[in-house]
Amino acid sequence: TTRYPDQKEYLQATLDIAKDVIPICNANEKYKQWDVFKRLCEPERTIQFCVTWLNDANEIQINKGWRVQHCGLIGPYKGGLRFHPTVNESILKFLAFEQSFKNALTGLPIGGAKGGSDFNPKGRSDYEVMRFCQAFMQELQRHIGPYTDVPAGDINVGSREIGFLYGEYRKINNRFGGAITGKDIEFGGSYVRTEATGFGLIYFLDDVLEHTGTNIKGKRIAVSGAGNVALHAALKATQHGGKVVTLSNSRGTLIHEKGFTEEDLNWVINHKGEPDNILLSLNERIDGDWKADEKPWQTEVDIALPCATQNELIGKDARALISNGCKFVLEGANMPCNDAAQRAFSDAKVVFVPGKASNAGGVALSGLEMSQNATFHKATYKAMNSALKEIMANIHRQCVEEGDEGDYVNYAKGANVAAFRRLADALVAQGV
Ligand code: NDP
Repeated sequence: TTRYPDQKEYLQATLDIAKDVIPICNANEKYKQWDVFKRLCEPERTIQFCVTWLNDANEIQINKGWRVQHCGLIGPYKGGLRFHPTVNESILKFLAFEQSFKNALTGLPIGGAKGGSDFNPKGRSDYEVMRFCQAFMQELQRHIGPYTDVPAGDINVGSREIGFLYGEYRKINNRFGGAITGKDIEFGGSYVRTEATGFGLIYFLDDVLEHTGTNIKGKRIAVSGAGNVALHAALKATQHGGKVVTLSNSRGTLIHEKGFTEEDLNWVINHKGEPDNILLSLNERIDGDWKADEKPWQTEVDIALPCATQNELIGKDARALISNGCKFVLEGANMPCNDAAQRAFSDAKVVFVPGKASNAGGVALSGLEMSQNATFHKATYKAMNSALKEIMANIHRQCVEEGDEGDYVNYAKGANVAAFRRLADALVAQGV
């Protein structure tokens, strides 16, 4: 807190894990002697660079770019790129730190990283986005590679941006390979990668519900966001018999009491890239209730799945969900629930699952994409979907083992402790 007083998201993420793992460190001579937790908090490397490019009017544009390579102990650095005007070093450091713990939970050989830029692709032409991605990659390419650091997508970095980034990487390096994941299926991508974070979230939800002796059928679900994670989570929840009654974006919330159908959700997935507010267009088809500037958390639901962005669900939102009967909250986004919200859920014994466990499906599939690239192999959709289910079940098992508190599973503690042990043991084994 004294070294980085202004990096509030980074401090929030590290302090959250500290409360669960410092007792483990104090009880283990090796961890204490090697100062394990402090060392795991600091990124191994933070690269900052300038991205200069030309807009369609041939005017010079300047953005900031970053890559935070947090932890390479158990595999090449791995984590997404985010393009959003709010991106700064604190946000990327928190995301990279969380990513290291999340990746450890998957059981795969992948380290943790995150990167991005304060560039906003919204309102930019395809050519502008392409020129920006090329300029960004001209700098980033010297720091990444299949055995060094393997970026992927995140907010505002989808298949279009990944295609442009990968194309530039390939041209500069004259090498086809797994230096980026989330690629199109025709050039080294993996089946199920696009759907993996949202689908994995619902596979995890199924495991949580089964553990408490119930299932998703007929349950009312609030989803926030209308991006990659939110839409695929909503789709899989609907396919499993749940009733998704909200979607949202930065402009408001769409409530649909009857529940979105698979057809509605597939329609949004196929029109997601369109420049207008896609939820308003969806509402013209379904006659729901559009609430401008509102969040989805005032709705009566059994389950809440925040899938938009960090700190989107705060204390008063949590209290509204609890008083409306919500019993399960699983994070689809990274750190969407702030400290006050998490405390409120814990006090009310609402089952709360942190993103590092419940949204790990995306990076897990990215890890499997890397293996497929390394062996020039393309696995089937069915094989990748089964692998995703198995990985999510394995993360669920670790959370229960480390977070069992009698009548309540503390998933947050379970995930923190299980991931920490894997990283701490690797750190001790590799020395200073
Ligand atoms: P997308 O860019 O596809 O979608 C983001 C969605 O969140 C959009 O609907 C956007 O609305 C909304 N949103 C963004 N900021 C806000 C805000 N301040 N208030 C309300 N809504 C907001 O991103 P993803 O779906 O890929 O990512 C969502 C979250 O999931 C992020 O936290 C990301 O780090 C996390 N995640 C993503 C993974 C992936 O595989 N994609 C993997 C693991 C985690 P609008 O369009 O109006 O901005």
